[in-house]
Amino acid sequence: HRVLLTGANGFIGNHILAQLLSAGFSVRAIVRSQSKADSLLQTHSSAGHNLDFSIVPDITAHDAFTEAYQSEDPVDTVIHTASPFLYREVNNNHDLLDPAIKGTMEILKGAKNVPSIKRIIILSSIAAIMDYSETSPPGGRLWTDRDWNPVTWEETSQAEDYSTVYRASKTFSEKAAWEFMKEQKPHFDLVSLNPPMVYGPILHPISEVSQLNESNLRIWDLFINSSKGAELPPNGVYSYVDVRDIALAHVRAVLKPEVGNKRVIVGAGSVTSQEIADILRSEIPALAGRTPVGNLGENTLPINPYSVDIGPARDILGLEFLSKKATFVDLARQLLEIEKGN
Ligand code: NDP
Repeated sequence: HRVLLTGANGFIGNHILAQLLSAGFSVRAIVRSQSKADSLLQTHSSAGHNLDFSIVPDITAHDAFTEAYQSEDPVDTVIHTASPFLYREVNNNHDLLDPAIKGTMEILKGAKNVPSIKRIIILSSIAAIMDYSETSPPGGRLWTDRDWNPVTWEETSQAEDYSTVYRASKTFSEKAAWEFMKEQKPHFDLVSLNPPMVYGPILHPISEVSQLNESNLRIWDLFINSSKGAELPPNGVYSYVDVRDIALAHVRAVLKPEVGNKRVIVGAGSVTSQEIADILRSEIPALAGRTPVGNLGENTLPINPYSVDIGPARDILGLEFLSKKATFVDLARQLLEIEKGN
C-alpha cells in the first residue's frame, strides 16, 4: 500500500506513521513546514525510500492538497488526522472549526481527481458521537456508531468554552465527510475511526513537558505535576484508548475491505482518576509525593456510567487493547525522563 498521511507529526500521527512503516507500507507524510518534515525524518530515520513528504502550509486553502496528491507512485489510501486539538493557541472558535471542517473537505475534494485512491480514513472522535449534556439513564448508556453529538451551529457560535467548540469541530467535520460521500458518490469509500481520550507515550520530540499534546498534558498536570495531598481530579471523559492501539486501528483499516463506509469506535474501556492514581503510585516510587492519593481502590464511576461500543473494533479490526498499566506507566516514566532533560 501507498498511504498519504496528514498530521503525521502529531502525537497520534507519529504513531500511525511508525506503524504504517513497520507494516511495510510506503507513506507520503503531509506537514505544515519543512522543519516539521526534517524532524519526522529524524524520528523515522530507518524509513528510507518508504517515506517522502509534502508540505501543505494551509489545509483550509482552496485545492490545498492538489500538489500533495500528485505522486508518481500511486496512492491508494489516505489517512487524515490533521486537526487542531490544542486549546492553548486558539484565539477564537474559528481557529478550531475551520481547519477541522475545511481540511476534511479539501482532502475529500482533492481525492476525487485521483483515480488510484480506494479509501479515505478520517480520525474523528467520540466527540462526534456522545451527547455530553446527557446524564446516563438507569443501567448506564452505551454509545454506538449510530449516535451523533447533537451540538448545533448556534450553540457552537455562542460557546465560550473551547471543549464544546472542539467537539463541534469533530462533529461537523465528520458529518460533512459522510454528506460528501452521499452527495458526490466518489470512486473511494470512507472509514471514520472514533477514539475516546487517547493517552500513552510519545514518539514526537519535545524539549519540555509543557509542549505536550492536550490529552497527555492532562495526565501530567493532574497526576504527576501535583501532590500527594491534592484533591483527586474529576474523572472527565473516562473512556480512553492507548495511542499505540488507535495507531494499529489505522493500519487495520487500510487492510480490511469490510470496514469500508463504517464508523468504528476504538476504545479500550473506562478508566477513572482513582485508577490512574493507584496505578502510578504503586508502579512508580518517584511519584509517591506527587500523585494525589484519593481513596485507594475506590470505584468512582457514576452509578449509571456510560460506555462506548467497542464490539466492531474487536470484530472488524481484530483489535485487542493494551493494559491500563502499560498506557499510564509507560507515559509517566517517559514524562519523568523528559522533565529531567533526558
Ligand atoms: P496533536 O496536537 O499532537 O496533533 C495534531 C496534528 O494536527 C498535528 O500534526 C498538527 O500539525 C495538525 N494540525 C493542528 N492544527 C492544524 C491546522 N490548523 N492546520 C493544519 N494542521 C493542523 O494532537 P493529537 O495527535 O492528539 O490529535 C490528532 C487527531 O486526533 C485530531 O484530529 C484530534 O481531534 C484526534 N483525536 C485526539 C484525541 C486525543 O485524546 N489526543 C482523542 C480523539 C481524537 P502542527 O504540528 O503543524 O500544528
